Amino acid sequence: MDPLGDTLRRLREAFHAGRTRPAEFRAAQLQGLGRFLQENKQLLHDALAQDLHKSAFESEVSEVAISQGEVTLALRNLRAWMKDERVPKNLATQLDSAFIRKEPFGLVLIIAPWNYPLNLTLVPLVGALAAALSLHCPAGNCVVLKPSEISKNVEKILAEVLPQYVDQSCFAVVLGGPQETGQLLEHRFDYIFFTGSPRVGKIVMTAAAKHLTPVTLELGGKNPCYVDDNCDPQTVANRVAWFRYFNAGQTCVAPDYVLCSPEMQERLLPALQSTITRFYGDDPQSSPNLGRIINQKQFQRLRALLGCGRVAIGGQSDESDRYIAPTVLVDVQEMEPVMQEEIFGPILPIVNVQSLDEAIEFINRREKPLALYAFSNSSQVVKRVLTQTSSGGFCGNDGFMHMTLASLPFGGVGASGMGRYHGKFSFDTFSHHRACLLRSPGMEKLNALRYPPQSPRRLRML
Ligand code: NAD
Repeated sequence: MDPLGDTLRRLREAFHAGRTRPAEFRAAQLQGLGRFLQENKQLLHDALAQDLHKSAFESEVSEVAISQGEVTLALRNLRAWMKDERVPKNLATQLDSAFIRKEPFGLVLIIAPWNYPLNLTLVPLVGALAAALSLHCPAGNCVVLKPSEISKNVEKILAEVLPQYVDQSCFAVVLGGPQETGQLLEHRFDYIFFTGSPRVGKIVMTAAAKHLTPVTLELGGKNPCYVDDNCDPQTVANRVAWFRYFNAGQTCVAPDYVLCSPEMQERLLPALQSTITRFYGDDPQSSPNLGRIINQKQFQRLRALLGCGRVAIGGQSDESDRYIAPTVLVDVQEMEPVMQEEIFGPILPIVNVQSLDEAIEFINRREKPLALYAFSNSSQVVKRVLTQTSSGGFCGNDGFMHMTLASLPFGGVGASGMGRYHGKFSFDTFSHHRACLLRSPGMEKLNALRYPPQSPRRLRML
């Protein structure tokens, strides 16, 4: 008995047989995803509230609507994305046809984390299914989805409801945690798309290397947020707090720490306090707009981080509710744990720097982050931070708004990951770009120039 092996064999056979591969069939899978989101919206909101105490607003904008937007975009643009891409030719190929053909890889594995358990499962799935819709290819990607076992309520819907909307011959959901995912990774896939921690990213890449399977790794890290002295502190506080405390800080692109001068810190603290009170009231624990930490393990990790530096705002926690107050830490030392690991919770340390140069040097001393933010009234300052640093994405004068644009690629660099997706980038990620040149069987006289025996005269002609 090997149910996992049987499932993978069934999908691979479906891929090779090309049984259900007309473009219409594949478009129907995307439409099915759209219907799944529409018809189960309330169910999904409830599950997200149970797993993460997400408000309906947060669930809608960051999970349901964003996934729905990707479905709509893919359906609208598929024909254009699928087309062979004509490329420029050289003298020797002037009469030929040269193009890039996008082909599905075959059997694709998508592994998702718990923090945006719907978005980070469905958005890659849209890309994988869309990429199967090649105009010319008889077979499309078959997909194995491995949702996070930690966001249990969403996992249940993905396992039990989603398959009713996608054809079973090209799709399967496999459940489980590290052990089951480890077993899954022993099998050969043609592409692996992983979203999660850098630690598990290394496990995935090592397993993929055994089969030379290409990977996309969407990982995390510490996202710096530089705040210039000339900023309006209230505007910065509103924008930084919204993005830091959204989903209780459990966001891979959230600003992880603020870099600013001691003077700016003094102006920023009252502004942050006023923003936090306005957003979540005098008692944030009773606010319907503040999420909860996903589980006890993460809660204990975060509570330990509250001991770093000095608590300037918040700092309260309640284990029974997995609640951590929106918190700001000051006097934080670079070597303290809160500055060593990705925080992934509602805690915002402020680190003092004396100048823009020092901030840039601080950022460049560390691993390349997934996102980098710079606030300044001077576009020159924002551009300097952009030019003199590197990160997966960058946003000037705001939090993670850059990732709401499907026309921009989303992904990390260095320790924050490799590969990119969203919109057409997802389609391209899940497609092999095949280099094609179609030549004429005639014109042999022209071709004869390249055959031996060669003469010095021919060499001079090159
Ligand atoms: P994780 O790495 O612990 O788990 C991710 C997935 O890997 C889960 O499905 C899990 O079941 C599986 N897994 C866990 N341990 C495994 C093991 N030993 N072997 C094989 N598979 C294993 O990540 P998480 O805790 O679910 O999510 C948080 C992390 O994800 C953070 O680091 C965050 O920055 C990152 N993240 C990145 C992005 C992005 O788009 N770049 C988005 C969201 C989260």
